Amino acid sequence: MYEYRIISDDEATLEPLLGKTMAVIGYGNQGRAQALNMRDSGLLVLIGNPRDSYLEKAVADGFEVLSCAEAAARGDVIFLLIPDEAQKALFEEQIAPGLQTGNTLCFAHGYNLYYELIEAPADVDVVMVAPRMIGVAVRDLFLKGSGASAYCAVHQDATGNARAVMLAIAKAIGATRVGSIESSVALETELDLFMEQATWAALMRVLTTTFEVLVEAGFPPEIVCHETWGSHEAAEILEACATTGLFGQMGLHSQTSQYGQLSRSKSVIDETLVERFRERLREIRDGTFAREWEMERLLGYPVFKKLRKQALSHPINEAERKMWKMDK
Ligand code: NDP
Repeated sequence: MYEYRIISDDEATLEPLLGKTMAVIGYGNQGRAQALNMRDSGLLVLIGNPRDSYLEKAVADGFEVLSCAEAAARGDVIFLLIPDEAQKALFEEQIAPGLQTGNTLCFAHGYNLYYELIEAPADVDVVMVAPRMIGVAVRDLFLKGSGASAYCAVHQDATGNARAVMLAIAKAIGATRVGSIESSVALETELDLFMEQATWAALMRVLTTTFEVLVEAGFPPEIVCHETWGSHEAAEILEACATTGLFGQMGLHSQTSQYGQLSRSKSVIDETLVERFRERLREIRDGTFAREWEMERLLGYPVFKKLRKQALSHPINEAERKMWKMDK
């Protein structure tokens, strides 16, 4: 059983980061949000990014922007906030050469640590502060005085101070304002990948099948999209699950609806789902998925490109365009 504890705002202090330089590598979803939140928390933040539109945005937001290598060499805490699959090469070529004893490397997802794709030198701390929110929400919630919960972990404690630095980072981005969870890189990575590869994969299939069966039976495609997700009812139900409970929110539905859901759920998805979900977890834990994804990257993403093309040419896309016109 994985262990965890909830981090409170009171136990975290910014003190370990005062007078230090935060080098945020990448100014995308998480990079921009975390950099702005840390600067608003009173920390010194600079950005490392190649010369492009992201750089212009960082400059417009008032940050000093350097090359990734220069920023990493200047930083005491280096945040790797570029896509996970690009981190290994960038780390080896541009980050590692500038690292100094006592620096901290901070990751927003455990993938490269869990699969040992990035191995930091023994004299630097390695921590993970992984928000459970898209970057825009990390920033918006912070501005509203709240925050986005994060999974936090110490992966390597070279200085004996890594946990204090990890807590300070979580506080600076607003994550300790709500229930953040201190645990391990393994818990965060396995959970995240399982949700993507089992839970959301199954839901995507369920929604696609809903569309295909109803359209085949003569229902207008745009009306099926509207009924299934376009009316926002599905989003409202998920929101109610978060506040009232998965089964608790059922009281918001008619009794006919409740009976239909409860009496039919096991006949539409049978027990073989359990074994398929276990298989997904096995593939995450034994590295099967990670090896497949690395091979994709090396070959230029052939399967990914094909699957994405198929998805974007599915009749659902045309139906949605009609649905959005219908809404106006
Ligand atoms: P983004 O895709 O938004 O990152 C874009 C940034 O990375 C840009 O600054 C881009 O600059 C830079 N970048 C992309 N490729 C490279 C490269 N090869 N070399 C150097 N810089 C590069 O990333 P996210 O913010 O989505 O993800 C960052 C981390 O946060 C990941 O570990 C992710 O798992 C984690 N995370 C993300 C969440 C999200 O909201 N998306 C939620 C929670 C965690 P340029 O184009 O100039 O190369």
